[in-house]
Amino acid sequence: MNDMSSINTTYVFKPAAVPTLPVIGIQALFPVHRIYCVGRNFADHAIEMGHDPNKEPPFFFQKNPDTLVLPGTDFPYPSETSDVHHEVELVVALKSGGDNIPLDKALDCVYGYGVGLDMTRRDLQGEAKKLGRPWEIGKAFESSAPCGPLHPVAEVGHPTGGAIWLKVNGEIRQNGDLNQMIWKVPEMISYLSRLFTLQAGDLIFAGTPAGVGAIVKGDEMVAHVDGVDEIAFKVA
Ligand code: MN
Repeated sequence: MNDMSSINTTYVFKPAAVPTLPVIGIQALFPVHRIYCVGRNFADHAIEMGHDPNKEPPFFFQKNPDTLVLPGTDFPYPSETSDVHHEVELVVALKSGGDNIPLDKALDCVYGYGVGLDMTRRDLQGEAKKLGRPWEIGKAFESSAPCGPLHPVAEVGHPTGGAIWLKVNGEIRQNGDLNQMIWKVPEMISYLSRLFTLQAGDLIFAGTPAGVGAIVKGDEMVAHVDGVDEIAFKVA
């Protein structure tokens, strides 16, 4: 008899490890399910990319969870590109999810916050845009999601304002304020939950302010969100 419940699961090969993020203050790791990223969530960044934020609302794409890079390691300059951009973002980590989450219940799903980088092969993304093709080769490449540790809500609350900036080799490149986000955190969660079933372990990269630009090997990126964290990654 094929009673699946009574036999130990075996795999034809060893499954890949669950991607995780460290959590400040505790030993246990946060297991990552999916990574959602919001595009053009700051008006000044939408404008610098050639779009009118009044006509085109923000939107979502995904990165693969195994593209996370943890602090203490370098960001490896990716293949097949000569124009890799930094995008500093607030990262929202979910402890629960569901479908059709109402706006006033959305923050109940949040475990904590971190600071992340939505690294982008801008040349390949630009080509994909021009051809009407998907963005994965520009956005979801290996190591495309450097991310700091998570800070539980009990520690940092739900940040709605404060500086978000990125320096390269000590020089300010991006500088904005969380209060400039077009979609606020509850709106992102509620909107996404109408399109996908959100789950504990999902991360949302909440969009980047203006000033995105290229990095080269040897650069040191420092990314900061007031009241949350400051992280550093070297380009290797
Ligand atoms: Mn982004």
